[in-house]
Amino acid sequence: MCDCLFCKIAAGEIPSRKLYEDDELLAFYDIAPKAPVHFLVIPKKHISSLMEMTAEDSGLLGRLVFRAQELAREQGCGERGARFVFNCKADGGQTVPHVHLHVLGGRVLDWPPG
Ligand code: 5GP
Ligand code: ZN
Repeated sequence: MCDCLFCKIAAGEIPSRKLYEDDELLAFYDIAPKAPVHFLVIPKKHISSLMEMTAEDSGLLGRLVFRAQELAREQGCGERGARFVFNCKADGGQTVPHVHLHVLGGRVLDWPPG
């Protein structure tokens, strides 16, 4: 039994506002949005962070990025753009140890982040 929050969301054991789902990916709105558009795209496979990705995960995570930009377009970010972020481990500010790509848009975002 996987004791991971995003595995539970992927399995439907914890509810989420879904944006997109297929057999290997899930996109859902962030519970605490930091921008008018803020959703997460995860692989259903448990990979704890980007640092734990293997060469075999390249295709899966490539498809995840492709899907993220398609969804960003659907959310109205195609023209003005968006930010696509993988927070990774402690220094990267990752709080949920299951790979997720943040997509933030709908406003101008500051750089550098805190
Ligand atoms: P991290 O800090 O790991 O990069 O991002 C984790 C994100 O997951 C945060 O933006 C946080 O708001 C979001 N989050 C945490 N728990 C839940 C939850 O139960 N449901 C949803 N939809 N988002 C969550
Ligand atoms: Zn997981």
